[in-house]
Amino acid sequence: MFCLIVSKEIKSDIVFENEHVSAFKDINPQAPVHILIVSKKHLKSLAETGPEDVPLLGEMQRAAVELAARYKLDDGFRLVVNNGREAGQSVDHLHYHLLGGRRLKWPPG
Ligand code: AMP
Repeated sequence: MFCLIVSKEIKSDIVFENEHVSAFKDINPQAPVHILIVSKKHLKSLAETGPEDVPLLGEMQRAAVELAARYKLDDGFRLVVNNGREAGQSVDHLHYHLLGGRRLKWPPG
């Protein structure tokens, strides 16, 4: 389904895009800023990445840093990957959650 968003066949609120990464607002936000940073390459999960995907993962994390600056998350932000059902992964396409704009509790639920 995220492939359809990345290819713009499904409409979404895209806030960042480059050759490797697309980022859009989460449809069910858990914080004032909740952006999904999605790989354009289809990988099911973080666990499915290999050594060849290290540059892609760097691109995704750098996108998070750029978005955190753009959304002025100067007091803090969180970058989360849910890997697998037990961790809460519901969409089988590699993505990071960028969360911020409120105080975030630790440990997470
Ligand atoms: P995860 O549960 O870690 O796999 O994260 C999937 C996220 O995708 C959830 O936070 C959902 O709210 C979000 N989501 C599902 N469908 C859409 C959509 N069409 N547009 C934006 N976000 C979505």
